[in-house]
Amino acid sequence: MNRNQGIYKNVLDLVGQTPIIQLNNITKSLPGKYFAKLEMFNPGQSQKDRIALHIVENAEKKGILKPGSTIVETTSGNTGFSLAMISMVKGYKCKLAVSDKSSIDKIDGLRAMGAEVYICPANVPPEDPKSYYEVAKRIHRETPNSVYINQYFNDLNIEAHYATTGPEIWSQLDGKVDGFTCAVGTGGTLAGVSKYLKEKKEDIKIFLSDPYGSALYNYYKKDELKAEGNSITEGIGQGRITKNLENCPIDLSFRISDNNALTVIFDLLKDEGLFLGGSSGINVAGAIQLAKELGPGHTIVTILCDSGQRYQSKIWNPEFLKSKD
Ligand code: PMP
Repeated sequence: MNRNQGIYKNVLDLVGQTPIIQLNNITKSLPGKYFAKLEMFNPGQSQKDRIALHIVENAEKKGILKPGSTIVETTSGNTGFSLAMISMVKGYKCKLAVSDKSSIDKIDGLRAMGAEVYICPANVPPEDPKSYYEVAKRIHRETPNSVYINQYFNDLNIEAHYATTGPEIWSQLDGKVDGFTCAVGTGGTLAGVSKYLKEKKEDIKIFLSDPYGSALYNYYKKDELKAEGNSITEGIGQGRITKNLENCPIDLSFRISDNNALTVIFDLLKDEGLFLGGSSGINVAGAIQLAKELGPGHTIVTILCDSGQRYQSKIWNPEFLKSKD
């Protein structure tokens, strides 16, 4: 742990400064060195604490968020959990439009954290009034004294990762990084980290690891925003170019299947003792592809976003997996 052993003023003071772990066992027979940032060590148990706190503090500075205000957001669950935690500490109400693709484990967690949850269908386009984007906007319009976080189209999302995740990776690895990869939900993590790392080292390789059901792989490969297949992973995959992705310096993209990601997830548990969510499987599978692409002797970094506990009813439930063949 690189956190100090002192006393923190409250739980929000623990956001960021997460550890990096080297993945040894699962990569034994593979070229390259692999490091992963353990983002579930944030107090809200994912990297979304970083952006949630940054955006909230910015709104407070601007005077638009005051005690008693309501925070409104579109979320697959992790950003919502971070916002609900922050709302508890700071005395805000929290209303969240959540995709019905999200695990019941995450939805229960949001409710336990005091958030009002609106479940929205995942299989409608973003501009549909029933989509979680449009529902959040409507709740914002209808709720006096509310602030819409808008993580998909908010520069502060990238800024949070540029200011914290990127510099942490760089200093934890003493600048010895050749490639970075992760999947994209809002794109804030990939865009913010890669912006920082490319500024430090121009020739660092930034690869997108994209699940099936997302349109980004085809976009970066063939300039065609087209989704194919689907995925049981959550919080990642995107059908459009969010503001966060507009200037993201992506060198290449990989498409990772759920089968590949699940194999990696189970190996990470068996060989490394890491109990993780599905997007971490996509990311580590992507890191392995990236190492193969770069050849022997390179150092690759990725993100382990959240814990398997958030998916106990899904990827860690044999019945669910059987139902998905
Ligand atoms: N993994 C998980 C589990 C997530 O919840 C998210 C955020 N939606 C991501 C990865 C992707 O992060 P970002 O939004 O920064 O692209």
